[in-house]
Amino acid sequence: MDINEKMYSLGSKRSVIREIFEYGRSRAREIGADNVFDFSLGNPSVEPPAKIKDTIKKLLDTESGIALHGYTSAQGDYFARKAVAESINKRFDTSLDENNIYMTCGAAASLSICLKAIINNKDECIVFAPFFTEYRVFIENAGAKVVVSVPEEKTFQINISDFESKINKNTKAVIINSPNNPSGVVYSEETVKKVCEILKRKSEEYGREIFVIADEPYRELVYGGIKVPYLMNYYDNTLVCYSYSKSLSLPGERIGYIAVNPKMKESGKVYLAVCGAGRSLGYVCAPSLFQAVIARCTELKSDISVYEKNRDLLLEGLTDIGFDCVRPDGAFYLFVKSPDTDAASFCERAKKYEILFVPCDDFGVEGYVRIAYCVSRDKIIKALPGFRKLGEEYFSKK
Ligand code: PLP
Repeated sequence: MDINEKMYSLGSKRSVIREIFEYGRSRAREIGADNVFDFSLGNPSVEPPAKIKDTIKKLLDTESGIALHGYTSAQGDYFARKAVAESINKRFDTSLDENNIYMTCGAAASLSICLKAIINNKDECIVFAPFFTEYRVFIENAGAKVVVSVPEEKTFQINISDFESKINKNTKAVIINSPNNPSGVVYSEETVKKVCEILKRKSEEYGREIFVIADEPYRELVYGGIKVPYLMNYYDNTLVCYSYSKSLSLPGERIGYIAVNPKMKESGKVYLAVCGAGRSLGYVCAPSLFQAVIARCTELKSDISVYEKNRDLLLEGLTDIGFDCVRPDGAFYLFVKSPDTDAASFCERAKKYEILFVPCDDFGVEGYVRIAYCVSRDKIIKALPGFRKLGEEYFSKK
């Protein structure tokens, strides 16, 4: 059959995360969900805030179905875009308006659109390891080459000199994801400033714009009052990709946005390229009902204290057993050094105790695993004895 082989291979080879998640589902059918400790997927376990449900009910009771379920403008409903712009301005002291916002089906769509909007032949896009596995798919689909910048050892902050060495005349974009999936690391303001200073210098040197794509689905999921720098305030050529999947626990509703920095040179032109990319990819008119919900709920966030408590419990428990963990300041993932040289074998061995987590080779860092702690506290408590037995298989040998 003469079809697109690249797409065929993407469709037939599931991501390692999805593979393990599907295994967990089949195990749950065999032995019961309570007996499977699935830490594979970043699916929020906290209920969406009550106001979401109330808003949906109210909208259904008061608005016409035509208005609620009909097409909006391709770039999103005016009121949703206006509410989003005002909310960003209020929180980050920016000056956006509705013409800088494009409503999307979550951060995945936002990223695909942004890349498509700016990438030309021979362009390169830098990602900081460890990185969300799908970046590779989105970047290559837009026609660019993926260039991986290796992190600082142990801290997993951006390695500034490595980053600088990866920039060349073909560099078009840099994706910055903080809080980071899978490490949970939040890039410090000092790091962000250095990255932006290098980008400004290199843009001048090569005489062309380099864009920052800030991928921010975990922006609100930070612990201990830590601040996440808002990249538009540090670098003009910034496109923000946001999603309500994690902050409002709405991943299945597919709702988010792109914000184009108005301070960017020819920002109107870039916004139109975003609209064109959305059109070419078929990502027009994000779900209408949820655009209406968002227009009324921009200031909400779910109760993240649950994740913080989970982080403390798991981090303490695993460290006590002897695992070497990176302390996460945000998101809901624990990045753990594999005691096995092959991280996939370590994940395989954990299955013996019905514990599921994912190897990070596809995230661009070998020898680490990601444990998603967006599960119930009870699940972690019940999984810890299994983790202990797993640890004993490695550490007792020393
Ligand atoms: N970017 C990162 C870093 C993610 O972890 C995810 C989802 O887990 C996404 C983007 C995609 O999010 P969405 O559900 O909004 O498409």
